[in-house]
Amino acid sequence: MEGCTIIQFRQVNKWFGDFHVLKDINLTIQAGEVVVILGPSGSGKSTLLRCINQLETVSEGEVIVDGVKMNDPKTNLNKARQEIGMVFQHFHLYPHKTVLENIMLAPMKVKKVPEEEARKIAEFYLQKVGIPEKANAYPSQLSGGQQQRVAIARGLAMKPKIMLFDEPTSALDPEMIGEVLDVMRTLAKEGMTMVVVTHEMGFAREVADRVIFMDEGRILEESEPETFFNNPKEERTRQFLSRIL
Ligand code: ADP
Ligand code: MG
Repeated sequence: MEGCTIIQFRQVNKWFGDFHVLKDINLTIQAGEVVVILGPSGSGKSTLLRCINQLETVSEGEVIVDGVKMNDPKTNLNKARQEIGMVFQHFHLYPHKTVLENIMLAPMKVKKVPEEEARKIAEFYLQKVGIPEKANAYPSQLSGGQQQRVAIARGLAMKPKIMLFDEPTSALDPEMIGEVLDVMRTLAKEGMTMVVVTHEMGFAREVADRVIFMDEGRILEESEPETFFNNPKEERTRQFLSRIL
């Protein structure tokens, strides 16, 4: 799959009422690529991410994922979305279901996977995120970092081609950030296509194939992390980096 385009934004614009939130977005992401999106608060990062799975609609242009035009009324979004896992800042686990049940739910409900198979899949991914012993615990019995790892396992259990992460460590206590980034680093190494909004510059430097900098709804700069961090082209990028690093 490497080298194939899997996500494409073609001349995308979006307005919230009068507010022009995404401006002339053109972006091509290859299968297996890890793209980190940086930028100040309010610059449109979450909106861009949410346009990939059409949690937000676009006003103009095209969003194409794995050959499917997502903003086409004829597209079966429920099916297309099965290819796209998403992890949010807040984990949104079901409090009255166990960890394993949380992970089993979507494969059973959406993909009609039989219960026993769903259980095996859930156990596999729980092992993968490093907390197999928490299978029968409830979310409230887990730390924030563990809950976020369950949320990642839940996304993976649908066997998506793409994983989207929107500030997955921003709500965590500092000592728990590392364990979540480690899981993401492993996924990246295994070749998962990932689009990650984060303020974790270490992760961006180490793991990203490409860094995208957004400002006021535009992609202002995009380059390999080495170039981005050592030799940013735009003054606005330099200002952002000087404040955050
Ligand atoms: P970021 O993730 O970079 O912080 P967002 O994509 O969340 O930025 O938001 C970009 C801008 O769009 C912000 O100014 C935000 O207030 C505005 N915005 C986001 N969602 C909505 C919405 N549903 N309605 C109106 N404005 C919105
Ligand atoms: Mg955001």
